[in-house]
Amino acid sequence: MHEFNFKDRRLYCENVPVDRIVKEFKTPLYVYSYATFVGHFLKLQKAFKDIDPLICYSVKANSNLSVLKALVDKGAGLDIVSGGELFRALQVGCPPERIVYASVGKTEVEIEAAIKKGILFFNVESLPELENINRIAARLGKCTRVALRINPDVEPRTHHYITTGKLTNKFGIDFQTAGKIILESGRLSHVRIKGIHIHIGSQITIGAPFVEAIRKVIAFIRKLKAAGISIEYLNIGGGLGIIYKNERPQTAQQYADKVLPILKKSGLRIIMEPGRFIIGSAAILVTRVLYVKKTPLKKFVIVDAGMNDLIRPALYSAHHEIVPLTFSPGAKEKVDIVGPICESGDFLAKERVLPAMKEGDLLAVMCAGAYGFSMASNYNSRKRAAEVLVKNKAVKLIRRRENNDDLVRNEFIVET
Ligand SMILES: *Cc1c(COP(=O)(O)O)cnc(C)c1O
Repeated sequence: MHEFNFKDRRLYCENVPVDRIVKEFKTPLYVYSYATFVGHFLKLQKAFKDIDPLICYSVKANSNLSVLKALVDKGAGLDIVSGGELFRALQVGCPPERIVYASVGKTEVEIEAAIKKGILFFNVESLPELENINRIAARLGKCTRVALRINPDVEPRTHHYITTGKLTNKFGIDFQTAGKIILESGRLSHVRIKGIHIHIGSQITIGAPFVEAIRKVIAFIRKLKAAGISIEYLNIGGGLGIIYKNERPQTAQQYADKVLPILKKSGLRIIMEPGRFIIGSAAILVTRVLYVKKTPLKKFVIVDAGMNDLIRPALYSAHHEIVPLTFSPGAKEKVDIVGPICESGDFLAKERVLPAMKEGDLLAVMCAGAYGFSMASNYNSRKRAAEVLVKNKAVKLIRRRENNDDLVRNEFIVET
């Protein structure tokens, strides 16, 4: 569900017509709906209220400070994957005890900063990393909590680029190695292994892979218990899918119906890390038609947003619905919607049947909230888009459009 709907043939975000927002803020423009993403967070919280999990929103899905702040204010924790994301989390006042930190490549500087702040957990992805965290914690005279990220070797049936819980992926630690690490962890005096973490992939629309992975790790935790090792926390990761085209993903409630009974029985304190589920459908990318170009074989609608603004179609062959901001009942035609960038991979949609378009028309790329702006780049020296947040009738700028100075801010012209 999202709050982008047509009223009188005009697309609205909550109670504001999107074309009016564009008049003020221009294109390309990311428009976020507060009610949508906060609503998704609250739905998940409600579905799992029996076990009151710590819901750590995955910052990398969309890291705008206003988005983070709105969620933290509602009680969310944050799931981070870098020192930069730790900085963002602290900027919005997220209590460190609600921050969990995953990544296969945490650096010394990043680890030190997170230990000093006293985050809830490092989600550790290898033995060398665990040893490094132990060494750094010892140097700082601290003891730090960790969870081991297990690679449960399940098939989440999603795009292979966003599968993370198979043994061929770089993420996590296999059961056997993890068991060995935990049994021998007594020698690591400055870390406490308190939790087990899994995150098996993204845009997963069915419950079965989650259930399978959770069952596997709970059995593992039970074995540890029998060996005298007690684990308090289970972090079940993120990965819940949303509707981009015609998927029928499980709702928060259906997901809870599947996994809650198992989680409840385990008696473990549960953490989850949804990203896309919360923010995915909560934003659109608005773009303007620059040219309509006919070739002997095709018709291209060239727009002012490109793969630097939204890379998902190019990177994952992802589908995004595209709709004109004003509904038009006229003739339809098959077109490719492409950006201005010098790459054939620079497209937003291919072979899409849309109402005939002309220069100056405005289009909304739907469900662009997750891995949209957060993956945006300056390729082709393009300035990254502005972002605005709509809450009911109010529209606020949450990131200004970049300018030429932003592009060269960190560069030096040296004599050669
Ligand atoms: C990316 C990521 C998530 C969020 O994934 P979604 O598919 O957006 O829910 C959660 N946990 C970890 C460790 C991640 O890397």
